[in-house]
This record gives sequence, structure tokens and C-alpha cells, in this order.
Amino acid sequence: MISITVKGLTKQFGSVTALKNLDLSIEAGELFFLLGPSGCGKTTLLRSLAGFCLPDEGMIHFGEDEVTSLPPHKRNAGMVFQSYALWPHMTVAENVAFGLKERKIAKDEIRRRVGEALESVRMDGYGRRKPNELSGGQQQRVALARALVIRPRCLLLDEPLSNLDAQLRLEMRGEIRRICKEFKLTAVYVTHDQKEAFSIADRLAVMEEGVVMQVGTPLEVYRRPENRRVASFIGETNFIQGSVSRVEKDCLGITTDLGEFESAIGDSRAAFSLGEEVTLSIRPEAFKLETKSGSDHNCVKGQIESSVYLGEVAQYQLRCGETGLKVFELNPRFMDWSGKGDVFARVAAADVVVIAG
Ligand code: ATP
Repeated sequence: MISITVKGLTKQFGSVTALKNLDLSIEAGELFFLLGPSGCGKTTLLRSLAGFCLPDEGMIHFGEDEVTSLPPHKRNAGMVFQSYALWPHMTVAENVAFGLKERKIAKDEIRRRVGEALESVRMDGYGRRKPNELSGGQQQRVALARALVIRPRCLLLDEPLSNLDAQLRLEMRGEIRRICKEFKLTAVYVTHDQKEAFSIADRLAVMEEGVVMQVGTPLEVYRRPENRRVASFIGETNFIQGSVSRVEKDCLGITTDLGEFESAIGDSRAAFSLGEEVTLSIRPEAFKLETKSGSDHNCVKGQIESSVYLGEVAQYQLRCGETGLKVFELNPRFMDWSGKGDVFARVAAADVVVIAG
């Protein structure tokens, strides 16, 4: 197992800076995701790790070895692409064997390793088929086997499931995690699908405009976003402007136009001082709708402006004077809030995230 360390990576394409002095440390054996809006530099970073893109500045280490300007075939990184990139004229076994033949491995050894690799992705018995005789999910398994057969030091995955239907994506998520852990691989995975990342990532980085904005576990990034951009990119949220009115050991008081709030989110507390302007980030599902107030803080009065029923969740727009809030109700049993006049959206102090500025 190897760690992957990126230091000061910069890549310019003409006037576009795809990566800006980017630092990142990925631990050995970690399944690590890169997330971020389109054009933020995810693919450029992954391609730099693979050796397909030469950075202008900075360094990349695989474990102790510096690989910044090594060509791809000398890095021993397995790549899995969105498009599978299987050779159509070759059988499954020949596709998987390709990288070993290039490395001039003996024939018997190739046969053995191809067999093992196909077995590990549960495709033994398919060796003689051509790619066009396989389903999309099976083709992606073959692409994985091809990446694994070279016994890579790390696995780099670029949207590997985006060509599959929803059901197969779900199945393959688990498979990819199983394989990474079974082979003790450090893996870097680019996706647009936050659910895919959240369901199998050990940790993830949220990128924007060529820099990493936050690194953490899915739980940390979702529950404790460090800035507005992360909070709004990951999932949905409500921002409420306010100023710090109370700083205590275990909680922070914030005065806003929608009333008083209390935040009990640990880390943030130390960083704020009395009177400081802050933004609250409150997830729509953190609010609970009630017909009575019952509290003088963390409770917003409003009227339901619109509602959408989606089965497992109902989404409401709550009008609170000038401000509109999104409120999600999980497992909604009825939808007649709109006839209630004033309603109250309550949030626990543990769900109120305070962000600077
Ligand atoms: P997406 O999610 O849409 O795939 P991304 O986060 O992977 O985007 P990159 O593909 O890394 O983003 O691109 C980062 C920036 O660099 C973009 O502005 C893109 O247009 C630019 N870029 C990437 N590759 C090239 C290239 N070969 N030539 C010129 N500009 C490029």
C-alpha cells in the first residue's frame, strides 16, 4: 500500500489555471474521492497522478517515490475510465492480458494472473467473449480486471460508473469498494455523483477552481462544511446571515433577522468572537415542522408557500418575511401544512453550522 502526496501542483492550459498550487495527502489504502463542480480540475488532477498530464509546477509522490514526470507506464497505476476503453477485436482474456504482454511477462504467468483477475471481479468463465457480447456492467468489471492484473500500486478511477444504469451503479459501487479493500489499494476516484462518493468513500476532497477547499470523511464534509461553497455544493442547505451574540464553552449564540439561534457544533466555536458577522448553514432536513413554537430560539416562524411530495421526502418552501427557507420532511405522513397558517421550523443546536463571513 502506498500513500499519495501532492505538493504545490499547478497546471495551466493557456489562460485557464486548472490546478492552483494544490496540496493533498491521500493515506495508504484509502478510497479517496475528488468532488467539485464541472471544470474545477478533478480530471486534470487525476490525469496528473496517472502521468497523462505533466504539471507546470509541484510534486507528486507515490509513497517515497517521486513520480511527477514519470511516464504513465512507469508509475504502475491502474486506470479505469468512464468509457471502459476495451479493445473490441480482442476477447475478454486478451484485453485483460494486454498490460502483462507489454511488460513481457511469461505466458503461463499471464494465464494464471488473468484467471485470478477475472475471478476477483466475478467474471471467470467470460474470458473467450468479445466486449460486445457483454453488458455495460460486465464490461466495466473487465476494465477493472485489466487495471488490477498489473498489480498496480494505486487505482485511479475516472467516472467509472457513469455509463451504467441506476441499478448497476448501485451494485458496482459496492464491488469497487470490495475490490479496493481486498487488494489493499490506495484509490483515487473522480465522480459527479455525490451519493456514489458518500456511499463508499473513506474520505473525499471538495475542489473548486483548481484548489482543494475541504478534505474529510463524508460525515465531516456534510455536517461540518468549512465554508459556504462546500456547504452549498455538497447537498442542499439554507444560509442565514447573523452576528455572534454569545460565546460559551459548549455553544455559540447567533442573532439573525429570523430570531436567535444556538449552535453546538464544537470546532467552529473557538474561531468566532462576539459581534462577528457569520453565516449559518442549516440543512433542509434538519428542520422539523411544528404547529406550535415551544422555544424562543432555533425556531423560525413562517408559512408554507409550496410543497412537493416525493415519496420518502416532502420538500417545502417556508416563507419567513423576506427570507425563503427549504425544509425537507422525511417520511411525510400528510401534506396539509399549507392550510395551517403560521407554522414553526425547529432545528437542534447540533445541526446549526456557523461559517465565517
Ligand atoms: P468535469 O467535471 O466537467 O469533468 P473537471 O473538474 O474534471 O470537470 P478538468 O477537466 O480538470 O475539470 O478541467 C479544469 C479546467 O481546465 C477547465 O476549465 C477545462 O476547460 C480546462 N482544461 C482541461 N483540459 C484542458 C486542455 N487539454 N486544454 C485546455 N483546457 C483544458
